[in-house]
Amino acid sequence: MSTSIDLFLLRTHIAYFSMEIALRPEIPTYAGGLGVLAGDTARSCADLEIPVVFVTLASRAGYFRQSIDADGRQTEEPDWWELRRWCTPLDAMVAVEIEQRPVWIRPWLYVHTCPHGHQIPVLLLDTDVDQNDEADCTLTHYLYGGDDSYRLKQEIVLGIGGIRILRALGFSLHTYHLNEGHAALLALELLTRTRTPASDQLESELQYDVPEVRARCVFTTHTPVEAGHDQFSYALFERLLPGFIELELLKRLAGQAKVNLTRLALNLAGYVNGVARRHAQTTAHLFPGYRIHAITNGVHAGTWTHAAFAELYTSHFPDWQHEPEVLTRALRLPDDDVWRCHRSAKADLLGIVKDRTGISLDPSIPVLGFARRMTGYKRPLLFFEDLDRVTSIAQQHPFQVVMAGKAHPRDVEGKQAIEEIHAAARKLRDKVTCVFVPGYDMQLAMALTAGADIWLNTPLPPLEASGTSGMKAALNGVLNISVLDGWWIEACIEGVTGWSIETRDEEAHHHAADLYEKLERVVLPLYYTDPAQWRLMMKQTIANIACYFNSQRMMRRYASEAYLR
Ligand SMILES: *Cc1c(COP(=O)(O)O)cnc(C)c1O
Repeated sequence: MSTSIDLFLLRTHIAYFSMEIALRPEIPTYAGGLGVLAGDTARSCADLEIPVVFVTLASRAGYFRQSIDADGRQTEEPDWWELRRWCTPLDAMVAVEIEQRPVWIRPWLYVHTCPHGHQIPVLLLDTDVDQNDEADCTLTHYLYGGDDSYRLKQEIVLGIGGIRILRALGFSLHTYHLNEGHAALLALELLTRTRTPASDQLESELQYDVPEVRARCVFTTHTPVEAGHDQFSYALFERLLPGFIELELLKRLAGQAKVNLTRLALNLAGYVNGVARRHAQTTAHLFPGYRIHAITNGVHAGTWTHAAFAELYTSHFPDWQHEPEVLTRALRLPDDDVWRCHRSAKADLLGIVKDRTGISLDPSIPVLGFARRMTGYKRPLLFFEDLDRVTSIAQQHPFQVVMAGKAHPRDVEGKQAIEEIHAAARKLRDKVTCVFVPGYDMQLAMALTAGADIWLNTPLPPLEASGTSGMKAALNGVLNISVLDGWWIEACIEGVTGWSIETRDEEAHHHAADLYEKLERVVLPLYYTDPAQWRLMMKQTIANIACYFNSQRMMRRYASEAYLR
């Protein structure tokens, strides 16, 4: 591994800021889809030689390690990881004044090397240094841990500290990409640097160059609900960053009542993106007056394709990792090869399930997979709404269910859902095998999205901004059945690429009944009675979904439409 930052200074022109990033399974600095997207973005930037430096927090204690007891109760442990094993400390240190004392920040360098050798730098910011008070040392330990004050301090370290680190290291950048509102304070830091000294009259925004900052900032928003956006009281902001910027100006940029980081980012970014067409529309509705673009998310094909499928693709389409668009020719793949690869991915999944839970699943019975953050709008309990119905479907057409997912330590509803899934699985015992595998992470996500037969997603519309796990499934020929929300509105061709759960949004309470109906009458009968058609659908999924919903396509669009504005 290269340890020198100098290599990157001249050729890097863009900085991408993200609170979380999934760099590799051994580095637990991510909580879910947002971090996986950031990681896939970095991997695609390396593949495509897009000149980006990534900035994130060191998150030494990771998100958390999940344990689940027999009753389904989740407990959390810090997930400490060894920075020194993967990263190199850099000499530069900068300070940010928080609560009127300097908080020192040291960057660590992680280098991602893509298969053809191109490298991309990632800076992980760390406040655990001798110069800091004990309390400040822990600021970059716990991803999404602590209270509002802890969170805002982390965002100060990321946004303001991140910009200062980049300058101290000698980067000269023309564009800054804010991955979600968490990174919005970077734009405020840039703004303060455009300030021209005012003599003695009152300072006003005329002394700041908002258009200059807007020309440099790109913002991707991920959250379609008002409550999901980071907001802080002005009292807290003033306590942590007294005098950082004139309050009147900040209120115009970030909202009168609270410091709303999404609003701040919307006002300071010249290019704003939603993560799917539907999400861009929802965002435009929530924040009228802004132009919201829609570059739909994608996943990194090389990362999320099972080794067996990767080998098959390489033998037919040698450049598929660089240009996944060629997978549009997947109908040429021999059915038997596709099925053999699927059986191999499924065997790997069943091996992992057996290792981690002791439960043996049957490879000849279809696996319904469901894994995501356990939180209200994802409706992880929807499938279990009517256990008699689930049982009766399984009596006609046997299936088995594998689930996984973490609830945020303070998400009471999410934790409750995990308990209820365990209770439902107990009631279904001997009728339908349902397994909950603890410790959902990148590695388990790879096994699950490749090894299931059917990938289920049941969010409450319009709250699924995009969703990406179904895209990983499609790369492996796994068929999606999902509520029409987020990316699936764009990807679903009924009966061709997968299936929708069809009722309109205002009838969301019918979703469980619709799901049962479709599984019973369409999906499971097809699996058992028409294997040729099933395999054709697997290839159609690859040809129509994997070829488009990948991060190479996504980053080519960001590069040409957002970075090269
Ligand atoms: C892909 C992924 C997600 C996001 O999946 P969604 O379908 O967007 O919910 C979350 N967590 C992990 C570990 C993942 O790999």
